Amino acid sequence: MDVSPPLRFIRRLLLLAALAALAVWAWPRLPEAARAPWHMARLSWQEAPAFLPVPVQGVPSRRLADTWGAARADGRRHEGIDIFAARGTPVLSATEGVVTRVGVNNLGGQVVWVMGPGRQMHYYAHLDGYADIGRGRLVAPGDVLGFVGNTGNARGTPPHLHYGIYATGGALNPYPLLTAPVPDASGSARPGRADAAAGVSR
Ligand SMILES: [Zn+2]
Repeated sequence: MDVSPPLRFIRRLLLLAALAALAVWAWPRLPEAARAPWHMARLSWQEAPAFLPVPVQGVPSRRLADTWGAARADGRRHEGIDIFAARGTPVLSATEGVVTRVGVNNLGGQVVWVMGPGRQMHYYAHLDGYADIGRGRLVAPGDVLGFVGNTGNARGTPPHLHYGIYATGGALNPYPLLTAPVPDASGSARPGRADAAAGVSR
């Protein structure tokens, strides 16, 4: 059957609309792991953050100590910050990101890796346990990743989160980011109030 050009145009339009509707319907129904590559691409385009909330619930930034570069066993240097809190205190994601690993290693014990904005990798170590998260999960700032513990080479020390940030150029000191002034809605800075709890959206 011959179809007139205007009708063909309308049919094409309807087909496009149907495809768009299907995409909108399917996106939230895709497994999280299938959406992860898109979120990772989006995050790598974003700028790396200039300040971060403290990723342990209830710990104010004024209680942090800068131990970056401190000597560790086997000639290693401390590549992060230790945030002390009671065992079981929720560990919160400092950034939006995609969980890239939930697992165990010798030094870190039970660890979670999150890829955040600017392709920075956020490392949460010595966890007592994990929240209900897995590889490919998209997290928001303040989402619970796990719980403070002393697994790995922290065994025998008071429970704490070892938090590390790795950029393409290597490890960064998290301390200046965690204690940086947080701009509020009016654009002026509130020093030392980078409390994770303040930024929790869900
Ligand atoms: Zn540490």
